[in-house]
Amino acid sequence: MSPLTAPVGLVVRGAHVMDADGAFSVARIEVSGGRIVAVERRPGAAGDERPGGSEIVEATGLWLIPGIVDCHTHLGWTTFLHDDEPEAGPGGDVRARRRALVAPALAATLRAGVTSARDAGGAEAELRDEVAAGVLPGPRLAVAVEIITAQASSGGADNGVEHLRERVRGLVARGADWIKLMATGGVMAAAGTELESAFSEEEIFAVVDEARVLGARVMVHAWGGPAVTHAIAAGAASIEHGIFLTREQAVAGAANGTVLVPTLAIYAEVAQMAERGELPSSVLDRVRRVVAAHPVAVRTAHEAGMRIVLGSDYGTTDQHGRNLTEIDHLARAGLGARHALLAATRNGAELLGGGSGLLEVGEVFDAVLLDADPRDTGIFLRPDAVVAVYQDGQKVR
Ligand SMILES: [Zn+2]
Repeated sequence: MSPLTAPVGLVVRGAHVMDADGAFSVARIEVSGGRIVAVERRPGAAGDERPGGSEIVEATGLWLIPGIVDCHTHLGWTTFLHDDEPEAGPGGDVRARRRALVAPALAATLRAGVTSARDAGGAEAELRDEVAAGVLPGPRLAVAVEIITAQASSGGADNGVEHLRERVRGLVARGADWIKLMATGGVMAAAGTELESAFSEEEIFAVVDEARVLGARVMVHAWGGPAVTHAIAAGAASIEHGIFLTREQAVAGAANGTVLVPTLAIYAEVAQMAERGELPSSVLDRVRRVVAAHPVAVRTAHEAGMRIVLGSDYGTTDQHGRNLTEIDHLARAGLGARHALLAATRNGAELLGGGSGLLEVGEVFDAVLLDADPRDTGIFLRPDAVVAVYQDGQKVR
């Protein structure tokens, strides 16, 4: 960073500051060079003077939490059921069009308070690199680039261990940090097939193994059934959705360090879309069952000691930027506010690496300043609850 763009120091004074256990106390935080250099939890006792040149943020009565980590989003998508490839008109530039759609999604997500995110398919590595270079404002990104799906119509010809290993190598060569494996159907799957695994145990193990060799990790979309069992046994880093996760799977997941990414809000929203008749009626029954079962899976995972992180699964223009809604869903599913806040910050940061998810000395200053007590998670349904957002010590909202 050049001296001209080096961030000025910052002192946030008087806020209720979240600690590593999700508890709050009034503290004074000093930031320099993008990192937290002091946390004084007995404000007024010492160090209340202003370090030379620092900006003072008077935050008495406000609440400060670490920057939110969204572990499952689709920043390259703009519409529901989108195939993620905007059509270029005559002479159109697909990349320019995509950029015109994706830049606002990135900006809205950052302004909402999401300072780090994992893109679960649809965002190229170039997007991650441009955010990192400061070309595009957005959450610090890890990307899966493209989703690996089974090719049902080809009679399994597109599956097979060797083919899948090749797919993993190809995606890592394109810059993927994560391999996203679509191991069961989703909302649009044929009725009764949601829990069928699209891949054999051997195939799932091969994907995880090939990724491990290349230094990438694996996130497995699985509603439940054998795909979840195999993904946990193979050492996949996270199960996406996990709607019908069983107690036995949760115990195995906790033992293996597998993380659950529930994505509750999106299914509630899909249910509303189906109720309004915006989706095929066949979807309605399925999504109602999902909305009923999902909180049970979250509680089962939590009780078994499986780590839970926040994932919005948002992928439309009107969804990007509402990511914090999921915190309220996690709390109401049974995590309670404290564990929902930890899922949204520290747990997600630990899964992704990079941003710390902690407001502690030595950590990067990614933080969200709120106008109300976040232990009432209903505040996250109100976008104006976010007063300010800091990323790498810079005010970005
Ligand atoms: Zn997704």
